[in-house]
Amino acid sequence: MKHGYEIRPLSLIRDNPCPSVAISHSSLLSLDEARSCIAQRIVRLDPVRVPLASARGRILREEVCAPEDIPAFDRAAMDGYAVGIDDLSERFRVVGEIQAGASGTLRIVPGECVRIFTGAAIPEGASQVIMQEDTKRDGDFMIPTRWSRTTHVRARGEDARKGQVLLREGTRLGPAELALLAQLGAVEPMVSPVVRALHFTTGDELVDPGSQPGPGQIRDTNSTLIAALLAECGAGLTTQARCGDTLDALMRAVEECDASAWNLLLISGGASVGDYDFGARALERLGFQAHFRQINLRPGKPLIFATRDRQAAFVIPGNPLSHFVTFHTAIARALECFAGAPESWAFASVPLAQEIPEDPNPRETWWPCRVALHAGSLRADPLPWQSSGDLCGLASVNGLIRIPPRSEPLPSGSEVSCLLLGSHW
Ligand code: AMP
Ligand code: MG
Repeated sequence: MKHGYEIRPLSLIRDNPCPSVAISHSSLLSLDEARSCIAQRIVRLDPVRVPLASARGRILREEVCAPEDIPAFDRAAMDGYAVGIDDLSERFRVVGEIQAGASGTLRIVPGECVRIFTGAAIPEGASQVIMQEDTKRDGDFMIPTRWSRTTHVRARGEDARKGQVLLREGTRLGPAELALLAQLGAVEPMVSPVVRALHFTTGDELVDPGSQPGPGQIRDTNSTLIAALLAECGAGLTTQARCGDTLDALMRAVEECDASAWNLLLISGGASVGDYDFGARALERLGFQAHFRQINLRPGKPLIFATRDRQAAFVIPGNPLSHFVTFHTAIARALECFAGAPESWAFASVPLAQEIPEDPNPRETWWPCRVALHAGSLRADPLPWQSSGDLCGLASVNGLIRIPPRSEPLPSGSEVSCLLLGSHW
């Protein structure tokens, strides 16, 4: 059991977790089953080689080993004087100087030392750097004022040995990993390609955010939301448009895009069963096979997932909060699968700063929250949630509380399982 949820291997899930349903058929999967289904159906994209400057946030698709010992030579870890560690002379003749980057052939014998600087190669015959602060100079001689057995040498191979695996396939490349690749000379790593997405918003009621809505109209917020969420995941948005509430317009919008130029189709709104909900029909006519069209999730129940060859599509219930939750819980999983990334669910067990006075609900609920420090410890503040359309309460969200189906009301102080939303900390 993890976070109060049983994680079952696919073979143990009752029935087929991922039936390809006729699009008119409704099948209510749990979120875990839906995520397994997505992982089963999505084929990861072929890797590409890119320069380091373009690799941030990508998934490494090869193993990277040390091409040589690291460090490749014994190096001074301090400014000071290089001596033999067993040389107990009271005075050392300074026979030379080695700066970082110098490739000298200096060699010392007992009674001799070399002035040396951090990062410089240790000369032959030396095995210790006496820190500058522990010495005094007397003309050509150095006199130690304090003795220690600490070598202050970064020995060849002490970080890694030649051939050692340093980065595994499936690693997400952040600043530290990129710097390590640079150190290894791996300047064109094999990584996941950028997932290319199309996004079409249905809804005759929508106007551009820069326009004043007329009677019965509202501003389109989901286009902005989806563009930002995709960008946070490193996905590319190839085409984005509003196409109203006709089946023809929606299909034409998709068909006008070169089918070889995208991997993921997102359709906002039209996921439900209303007269103008054309998402499912459009996908069917476009040759997609639906794998689920509802999940036991609140908000976000009427979520449709379908595939066509190696392309995937989601029809997302139009409410902005449903978009936010289904993106983080389901669509992000699809992006991981395309990239060949391991599943990354970062949950924390956090006490609630305020109660969530909900009656037991048959659906698994994801409640937006703000995780923040209260008197030195982290607490989750549930954000006000008026409706699935409410963006006002969502503005400071950095976590989603996962509330299992049929949970009792959660009093203040109860420990909840909270999905931490990566880039909002
Ligand atoms: P639908 O899923 O199309 O039935 O839409 C559900 C609700 O979400 C309706 O109130 C829509 O007006 C609203 N909605 C749909 N798309 C958007 C959008 N792009 N921006 C803001 N609200 C939307
Ligand atoms: Mg609609």
